This record gives sequence, structure tokens and C-alpha cells, in this order.
Amino acid sequence: MMEIDAINSGLIAITKAIYRIDKSRLSYGLLGGLYDYGADWDNDVFMMHPACGCESTACPWCAECHCTDDFDCPSCSPSHRWPEKGALPAREPFELSSEWGRAPNFWHKPSGMRVWWHKSIGRGMEVRSADGAGLNDVFAECLASLKQDGKKS
Ligand SMILES: [Zn+2]
Ligand SMILES: [Zn+2]
Repeated sequence: MMEIDAINSGLIAITKAIYRIDKSRLSYGLLGGLYDYGADWDNDVFMMHPACGCESTACPWCAECHCTDDFDCPSCSPSHRWPEKGALPAREPFELSSEWGRAPNFWHKPSGMRVWWHKSIGRGMEVRSADGAGLNDVFAECLASLKQDGKKS
């Protein structure tokens, strides 16, 4: 699948760019390459966050939404949680092919593109496509924003 390959390499390129600014933001796993686990970053253009396994109900990357049309799940009552981390609105996650009712691991804010992965980039990926923006533009914008952040730091 061409698109998934392009998404993987875009995410790895972002992780590399973050590494150049601040090595401590990377999530280092036991298997795979240096950049395979993503990194922690949040600016006006995008958010990236490594997969988390803490399983806390207070963790945006672990607590899942299980709302249905006639049931508000405990994670979301009284309102859906984690919109500021890119979590989809309540009830929307089930439109995706699996149950990603948690905050995404990558969120391009202007286009709404989101990616969830399992442990490392490329594994069990779930993608919500960009709204009216091409992949190249999405990743180029993220890299440009990192360049700006790098100048500030
Ligand atoms: Zn967690
Ligand atoms: Zn919910």
C-alpha cells in the first residue's frame, strides 16, 4: 500500500527532526530502529505522541471512548475527553475500522489527519485522512514547524 508507506516515512522523518532538536523527546523501544517509536511533540501545526501502555483511565492515549447512541461511557461523561489531544468526538471512533476511541499518536491540526499506531510506527495503523490536503503537504508543514521550533529552543 503506497499511502501507508508514505505515511510511515513521513512519521519517521518527523521523529528524526524532533531527535535533532531534543533527543529526550523520543520514545525508545526494545525492538526496531531509533525512530520507530515516535516522539512527544505538540505545536500549533501538529501533535505527535508515542504509544502508551500505562492503561490509566486518565491517560488520553490509553483511555478509550465506548460511547454509543444511547450510552455515555464513563470516560466521556459529562463531555467527551481529550479533544485538545486530537481525540475524535464521542461516537465517531466507531466509524473507523477498529476501536480507536483514544487520542491519536499523530494529529495534523489544520487538515484533521490523524494516525493511531500500536507500539511502533507502522504497526496496526489506523488513519483518518487529511481533509483536502495532500500527504506531502501535511508532512512538509510539520517539518517546517519543527524548524521554527528548533530556532526558538
Ligand atoms: Zn497511557
Ligand atoms: Zn465515550
